[in-house]
Amino acid sequence: MMVLLFGPPGVGKGTQANLLSERYKSTKFSIGDMLRDEVASKSELGTKIAQYLNHGALVPDDIISAFARQFIEKHKADDILLDGFPRNMNQAQNLISDLNRLSLSLKVAIEMHLNETELIKRLINRRYCPQCNKIYNYVTNPPHQEQVCDICKTTLIKRSDDNEKLIRKRLGVYEKETQPLVGFYKAHRIYERAEATGSQEEVFKKLSNIINAYTN
Ligand SMILES: [Zn+2]
Repeated sequence: MMVLLFGPPGVGKGTQANLLSERYKSTKFSIGDMLRDEVASKSELGTKIAQYLNHGALVPDDIISAFARQFIEKHKADDILLDGFPRNMNQAQNLISDLNRLSLSLKVAIEMHLNETELIKRLINRRYCPQCNKIYNYVTNPPHQEQVCDICKTTLIKRSDDNEKLIRKRLGVYEKETQPLVGFYKAHRIYERAEATGSQEEVFKKLSNIINAYTN
């Protein structure tokens, strides 16, 4: 089974994707993590990707779709959770062609939704662990010890694109590029929307209920 989770930056998608892939034993395709790993490797491609990310710009579709294609082919026997891909219509079309070619299909596309004021507040207070990739939030999900990862004790860092100016730019890009997926997946009758208000557990429950409804 393949599930897509999408939503604006700050909606808590990364955290929920981790919880869901654990719960459903699915293999997570997180384009954000993959891009950051490539940047950290300081490869030629990584250096190119860093230039886009540091300007709050989107990485070109051909790079993204190539990452995804490789991943899906490798894990085609598994349950897959797509986290943050596709993020525009072009990528969504690429995904459908790739899935058709492999005789696979997307079961449900879930959009996590939250108003803009709340998104900005969450993003400004977000930190992540550069070692194990766990995401924290000083408002909604603080670590036990200030600035230190609960799991591996690494010092937490702020993503370079989590400042207000770049956040507004990223939210604008989301609205323009990613929002059209709503109509696209509605037309395919696999679109669901989940309000991302409430605690992590509450949001997790909403998302799980949606997925269960599509698998039963
Ligand atoms: Zn950690």
